[in-house]
Amino acid sequence: MADDADVIVVGGGLAGLVAATEIADAGKRVIVVEQEGEQSLGGQAFWSLGGLFLVGTPEQRRLGIKDSYDLALQDWMGSAGFDRDEDLWPKRWAEAYVGFAAGEKRGWLRAMGHRIFPVVGWAERGGYDAMSHGNSVPRFHVSWGTGPGVVEPFERRAREAQASGYLTFHFRHRVDALTITNGTVDGITGSILEPDDVERGKSSSRKAIGDFALRAQAVIVASGGIGGNHDLVRQNWPKRLGEAPGNMISGVPEHVDGRMIGITEAAGARLINRDRMWHYVEGIRNWDPIWPGHGIRILPGPSSMWFDATGTRLPSPLFPGSDTLGQLQYIMRTGHDYSWFVLTQSIIKKEFALSGSEQNPDLTGKSWLMTAKRATNKGAPGPVEAFKTHGIDFVVRDNLADLVAGMNALAGSDLLQLEPLKAQIEARDREISNPYVKDTQVMNIHNARKYIGDRLIRTARPHRILDPAHGPLIAVKLNILTRKTLGGFETDLDARVFGRDGKIMPGLYAAGEAAGFGGGGMHGYRSLEGTFLGGCLFSGRNAGRAAAKAVG
Ligand SMILES: Cc1cc2nc3c(=O)[nH]c(=O)nc-3n(C[C@H](O)[C@H](O)[C@H](O)COP(=O)(O)OP(=O)(O)OC[C@H]3O[C@@H](n4cnc5c(N)ncnc54)[C@H](O)[C@@H]3O)c2cc1C
Repeated sequence: MADDADVIVVGGGLAGLVAATEIADAGKRVIVVEQEGEQSLGGQAFWSLGGLFLVGTPEQRRLGIKDSYDLALQDWMGSAGFDRDEDLWPKRWAEAYVGFAAGEKRGWLRAMGHRIFPVVGWAERGGYDAMSHGNSVPRFHVSWGTGPGVVEPFERRAREAQASGYLTFHFRHRVDALTITNGTVDGITGSILEPDDVERGKSSSRKAIGDFALRAQAVIVASGGIGGNHDLVRQNWPKRLGEAPGNMISGVPEHVDGRMIGITEAAGARLINRDRMWHYVEGIRNWDPIWPGHGIRILPGPSSMWFDATGTRLPSPLFPGSDTLGQLQYIMRTGHDYSWFVLTQSIIKKEFALSGSEQNPDLTGKSWLMTAKRATNKGAPGPVEAFKTHGIDFVVRDNLADLVAGMNALAGSDLLQLEPLKAQIEARDREISNPYVKDTQVMNIHNARKYIGDRLIRTARPHRILDPAHGPLIAVKLNILTRKTLGGFETDLDARVFGRDGKIMPGLYAAGEAAGFGGGGMHGYRSLEGTFLGGCLFSGRNAGRAAAKAVG
């Protein structure tokens, strides 16, 4: 039987688009098979903030940040904590990926028209020693145009390849199985789903109206992770993080269902590090949801006080923006699956950013005028103020007694008591008068403000939480929000998938989140942030180039 293309790519998210465009550019014929409609092209990346981990860039240098491959690799390894035999390929991917982020990544994107917002963000700041978790310096480069600004160059290239006949899209085609002939993966079979013009991000119909089969010399699985499937998240939840949360909200659309991971595993591929996941602890329920259980992650600056469900302050260094996994571990050990920020209007105005392209219309719309208003506006950015007004996880009051009463009412419990909470806030507030202090969170605030980017748009001037001049007081109930899958299919640096027998499965490649963003888990246990889109770019590119070469 003749092949339908040289290569089939499963998934039209960022990793799939990157792989497919590399294949088409190499003069090979590629089919992209995507279960969603054409309106959802780009997958999760469209919804993303477009934050990219980059090292030693002109943007960093202009802000006085001295960064290097060595420093970034030290941070990466400290965060990853590779400690297993199956970390062999993930570790090799990590080294190669940090090299990419410190090397050609920015220039490669720039040549395709991608641009970066000039203030570099500082995510995952750690707070332990130099060899442990965290970014020593700011590295989170937000794409001008956010997620759509990252997808755009690849969609454009894909459309050009489509016009010249090298690339074909099969939308509403859901892959149900891989076909293997004489030990080589040589195609896919699946169901044709009924047409559905549902808006991007909303759940689409899963009604099958037919079958299909396609053949090629190679298949690249770029089908994303499991974050939209809470049953799978719970199934893979590791004991070291305590009990799986009873309540979770979804940081990803429903199509991030992990189904294709099961299908690829059933075909013999080796899935590793499935217990490593990257879920956030600052999730808020979306008052204007797009997908089921839609949650938004707050990207917090360093000043909010953080309390567990019983009102005990999280210990140092678990401050906002320091160590996502450490915070998750701590919170889940409290026996409750939520926690609280307590802050002021001055803090929310300067320090709350919301992750998601639709939550940042100024950056997504590439409007300098609107973006500049972040610095000059009296209130927080429009979408943040909208959450403060409509979001069910927000309590806004003029005094602490009323705030605590509102928090208890929201939680449906009486776990919080005014006096102990007040004592902790007053103690912290007494530390504000001097620039040298004992409280490590306040020290952190002073440290952050030494970085001009934080001083300008991310870190409020230190003030007392209970100072009415900075009010009203705000409490935010923080939920666990599912997002990323750090484990995935074990691959070599050409993205060729290993089988359970430890041998390469001929014809099979994996990229993006399905490959744990490279090799089966290049992040190890923790991410430095902005590493996921970049992981799709790097692994998609490697997979596409290698498959194009292999098919001759
Ligand atoms: C709100 C939000 C904010 C984010 N912000 C950032 C950020 O700032 N920086 C960063 O680095 N990362 C960020 N991320 C993460 C990043 O966007 C994703 O990890 C990444 O885009 C995943 O890309 P992917 O191509 O691997 O998978 P996906 O985007 O999930 O694409 C996979 C595609 O495969 C399709 N598919 C699955 N199974 C099948 C099947 N059986 N048959 C056919 N098709 C199938 C799916 O429908 C989907 O379209 C964010 C994510 C979200 C949701």
